[in-house]
Amino acid sequence: MGDQDLSTELAGQGYRLVGRHSAVKTCYWTRQSLLYGRDCYKGRFYGIESHRCVQMSPAIDSCNLHCRFCWRNQGWENDEMMAEYDDPETLLDRSVEAQREMLSGFKGEASVPEARWEEARQPRHIAISLTGEPTLYPKMNRFLELCHARGITTFLVTNGTNPDALRHLDPLPTQLYVSVTAPNAAIFRKLTLHDRTDAWARLLESLDIVRALPTRRVVRHTLVQGWNLGWEDQYAELDLRARPEFIEPKGYVYMGKSRQRLSRDHVPSHPAIREFARRLAARVGYRVLDEAPDSKVVLLGLRAEGRYLPGLGPAEAPAAA
Ligand code: SF4
Repeated sequence: MGDQDLSTELAGQGYRLVGRHSAVKTCYWTRQSLLYGRDCYKGRFYGIESHRCVQMSPAIDSCNLHCRFCWRNQGWENDEMMAEYDDPETLLDRSVEAQREMLSGFKGEASVPEARWEEARQPRHIAISLTGEPTLYPKMNRFLELCHARGITTFLVTNGTNPDALRHLDPLPTQLYVSVTAPNAAIFRKLTLHDRTDAWARLLESLDIVRALPTRRVVRHTLVQGWNLGWEDQYAELDLRARPEFIEPKGYVYMGKSRQRLSRDHVPSHPAIREFARRLAARVGYRVLDEAPDSKVVLLGLRAEGRYLPGLGPAEAPAAA
């Protein structure tokens, strides 16, 4: 797929390109939060204000895995970045501007309070997770620095197969997510279809690095019925390697491009996720702190205090997916 095809395909899915390899897309929950005051589960768990959250990626055409459960486009991935990288300052400016433009249509909506719309124009969070592997963007450090300098918190989501980038992250994101999507190398290969023979070893190396990083760290297990749900002993070993503040067992959601690769039968029930979480918590010595059934996710942590981002608290209205 050529660059033009990819840009057209992404624009058709609501992405707004803000650079050669970067894009923003208004999150479903940003709209829900604006219209109905409903925040995403990270609002409930960590205090994220979804109406002030920008969902973006600096790596729209770059990923080194082909996860079957991924909602996004595949078939164009490469782990080589482009010759020229987007300038981080321009990227941040354009991301915020794109968000404002995409939310402009909410002004005057009957159910959108004026004050809330005004707040949405001043993003407070950036979720660097939209698509691709963001740690492949070599100017991530400067981008994080600029976000924090503007009082914007950063959630960086990585698939863990780029340990060198994690080793050199400075500053660290406000919250670092590592996706651990399999209990062992064999299932990892089958589920992520990675083409690097050392992908599993790199993930393990990343978990060791993450253990020592002085920031909020989350290990997320995206669980697919019939593929990687179970094996709690092996997941526990991996989680204890990273010893994160929080663990999120989360059920696969049948949506986007993943529907070409999996079926509804691969969607676990929330009780199945809760049972997995309970068994994992017992093995790693963590507590079950919270859950969001609509999004099939449970929050495990060492302690309840400190789970909300500084200056924030639980989302007002009931959280959802
Ligand atoms: S944290 Fe993620 S799910 Fe929540 S509003 Fe931001 S992009 Fe959406």
